[in-house]
Amino acid sequence: MDLFQMPISNLSGVSNARLMYFQKLGIFSVGDLLYFFPKSYENRMNQKYIAELSDEETATVTVRILEVSSRRVRQNLTLISVMAEDETGSLKLTFFNQKYLINSLKAGQEITVFGKVSRRIGYFEMTNPSIQKSTKGGNFSENYIPKYPLTKGLTQGVVQKAVADALTVAKEHIGETLSMDIRKKYHLCELLYALQNIHFPTGEQELSAAKKRLAFEELFYLMLGLGKLKLQQKKVAGPKLVNYKIAEEFADKLPFPLTDAQKRVTREICNDFKQGYQMNRLVQGDVGSGKTMVAAMAMLICAKSGYQAVLMAPTEILARQHYEGLKPYFDEFGISVELLVSSMKKKEKTAVQTGLQSGEISLVIGTHALIYDTVEFQKLGLVITDEQHRFGVKARSRLTEKGENPHCLVMTATPIPRTLALIIYGDLDVSVIDELPKGRIPIKTKIANENQRGLVYEFVAKELSQGNQAFVVCPLIEESDALDAENAIRVQEELQKTYLKDYRIGLLHGKMKADEKDDVMNRFVTGDYDVLVSTTVVEVGVNVPNATVMVIENAERFGLASLHQLRGRVGRGQKKSYCFLNLADQKARKRLEIMEKTTDGFQISEFDLKHRGPGEFFGTRQHGLPSTKLSNLTYSMETVRLAKEAAEAILLEDAELILPQNKQIAQGVKKMFDRHSYVSQL
Ligand code: ADP
Ligand code: MG
Repeated sequence: MDLFQMPISNLSGVSNARLMYFQKLGIFSVGDLLYFFPKSYENRMNQKYIAELSDEETATVTVRILEVSSRRVRQNLTLISVMAEDETGSLKLTFFNQKYLINSLKAGQEITVFGKVSRRIGYFEMTNPSIQKSTKGGNFSENYIPKYPLTKGLTQGVVQKAVADALTVAKEHIGETLSMDIRKKYHLCELLYALQNIHFPTGEQELSAAKKRLAFEELFYLMLGLGKLKLQQKKVAGPKLVNYKIAEEFADKLPFPLTDAQKRVTREICNDFKQGYQMNRLVQGDVGSGKTMVAAMAMLICAKSGYQAVLMAPTEILARQHYEGLKPYFDEFGISVELLVSSMKKKEKTAVQTGLQSGEISLVIGTHALIYDTVEFQKLGLVITDEQHRFGVKARSRLTEKGENPHCLVMTATPIPRTLALIIYGDLDVSVIDELPKGRIPIKTKIANENQRGLVYEFVAKELSQGNQAFVVCPLIEESDALDAENAIRVQEELQKTYLKDYRIGLLHGKMKADEKDDVMNRFVTGDYDVLVSTTVVEVGVNVPNATVMVIENAERFGLASLHQLRGRVGRGQKKSYCFLNLADQKARKRLEIMEKTTDGFQISEFDLKHRGPGEFFGTRQHGLPSTKLSNLTYSMETVRLAKEAAEAILLEDAELILPQNKQIAQGVKKMFDRHSYVSQL
């Protein structure tokens, strides 16, 4: 029986009155409810004596009641106060609106309570704790309680009861969604067992077995669906590019040796080039890992093979930097390269467009200006988008439409955790530059309170006095360029009058014209300015090796991924670099502490994912992926890898999923991708 077809109104625990609240959570069928996983568990096993408690801690305590009193505060508000103690101290319990307790709580009685404690003078207090049935600890399931995401009209108790009912139904009617072979091979428990234990775990191990199985199942179907798409894409013919030697010659001209990771990724690209099929490859590499050089080599190979290539960057500053950095090398090979950005004069733009159309210009580097219809190519073989998370998929496809199935290379400094990149970019092949160039000294990061702000800028002044440069970044205040600009102007004025009065401070914000911005940026790059105060326009890609300090004002307003990107603007040269996160709101300190601990962007994004939840990464609107339940499961990279392997093995034999033994799998994939844009392609 298909439990996804059985309405939850069949369950005794779901009254008609509550139906709509469940539906609000996306739960219509018994199947939906079974796959509605807890967002966390309440662990009541933290048994403590009162003297061992600390402020704000959540714990279980067994106490003896000394005195119970009740009073009506307002018409609808009754308050019960209980004074209690154990051998080590006193605990006050306060219950709001639980009048019925007055009859069950008596002086002299021993009770076990669970809740969050607050330290008061001479005693601890718990507000609305839960009271345990037995004082003897109970078994695992009694002490490990599922907590579901709720909506108004539902309580944990109601959802727990409904889930328990659903599990009873499942016992009789549930099927298995993974074949015996796969379960054996990957050591996965049965579906029913997994569902029982994800909701009401009987032990730690049972819970992790359940999570493993359910994560695997979901990833497996996701990988199958995406893998199928990818196989279909593979069949698109693309230009054959085989002149690799030029990449080696290019590498020989560089002032530094390529890292092993750069070489490996370049090889992966070359390997795609020679297949005669269109390449769709994502290159992930942390800030400063040297993605530009990899892009440059791909462009050269393309040009040498008689095709044109385009590199699109999200900002004009970045496009210019790429252009100016690469042109001298390309010139040495006699390969023509031009810049195309909106701020150029009409005549200049037209000249570039004409050259691209005739094929006279081989390579072009630019911004969004490249996607306009007026830009045509004679023979486009390669499209590269830098910092791809800044572009929509649309921009990318508008570029590729300008050629006949050109190869696509997408570069990102990955705000996306490694574990998720595989999933989100399942239709792309992924290369990872997982190594920074040698000799980089890790950036030292410090979170500063408001009263340490002076010290921070004194430190900045000291660095400047040694001939180094500094960035000061001011946050987005609102979705308004004007207000952001104002804030940056204010900070610049303040610094110029106070801590940094002896230094030249440039200002960069979104309200400035493109050529003004470029002018300021260039002056900073060439050392005319010692300090650059800016809004987040510097976030992406800009390279100033002489900058050794980055101060981020109101750091609490940034996400970790942005902070990491910003910080990546320093530490690009041989000198020790520093990053200060100035906080106006101390509450953010905890969230930002990871920045002090690591400079590894992957670790930071994993941390972000864990703490902020994967909603952002899995937002169906953003990535066009089917929504999944994975959000509530923690799973390891290993599980992702195994699920991918299992899916690939099946697709290898039956890419279309049409063999009879794969019928159930095909249905599973379809179900997952149902009501979704991908479905038309499956
Ligand atoms: P990102 O991956 O963030 O785009 P870039 O391509 O801008 O990084 O490279 C950052 C800096 O490192 C640049 O100054 C670049 O010239 C330099 N670089 C690139 N590859 C190497 C290498 N193998 N060894 C030393 N420096 C390198
Ligand atoms: Mg870059």
